[in-house]
Amino acid sequence: MRLQVVRHPLVEDVLAALRDAQTSAAEFRRLAHRVSLLLVAEATRDLPTADVDVETPLEVTKARRLARRVVAVPVLRAGLGMLDAFLELVPSAQVGYVGLERDERTAVARRYYEKLPKRLEDAVVYLLDPMLATGGSAAHAIDGLNGHGARTVRLLSIVAAPEGVAHLEKTVPGAEVYTAALDRELNDQKYILPGLGDFGDRLFGT
Ligand code: URA
Repeated sequence: MRLQVVRHPLVEDVLAALRDAQTSAAEFRRLAHRVSLLLVAEATRDLPTADVDVETPLEVTKARRLARRVVAVPVLRAGLGMLDAFLELVPSAQVGYVGLERDERTAVARRYYEKLPKRLEDAVVYLLDPMLATGGSAAHAIDGLNGHGARTVRLLSIVAAPEGVAHLEKTVPGAEVYTAALDRELNDQKYILPGLGDFGDRLFGT
């Protein structure tokens, strides 16, 4: 598995504000958007491009356009906080959705919703899931995407726990993970420490 922790002063700055318990939901949404822009820029750095001719107001020149289909799949609901940033940078991306919930009894992730574009095999698929905690739901979502033919799946998370990274390494070794922070550990309730709390609750003010 490939893990890239995106190191950048702007990432550090936005993370400090995201972690702050005093940050309002409105501000949290703006910050989630900002850090997602930085993650998406890094995670799309190696996308293939193809030569095209472009007519500037002065002459025809060679330019390059994206040459690979890109699909973004936010995991409901927290992943929605990363989608606008993704589409701002990759407006041609197709969007799928995966809804996962944890069975309170078994603690196993269950897919309750899925709507994906066709032909995932020739696309680079970006799974948007801001908190990589136990890794259970991310592994489940990546498995599901692979089951629909996806060959290149990249998980974009904002905060990851070592336990989640280890779980993905074991269960989906082909996955690529980009994260803004690799935190210390999970607590007994499976929250990331130091983390930023419940991402979905903070994003939607619930
Ligand atoms: N999901 C969250 O929103 N926060 C955590 O710390 C762990 C999982």
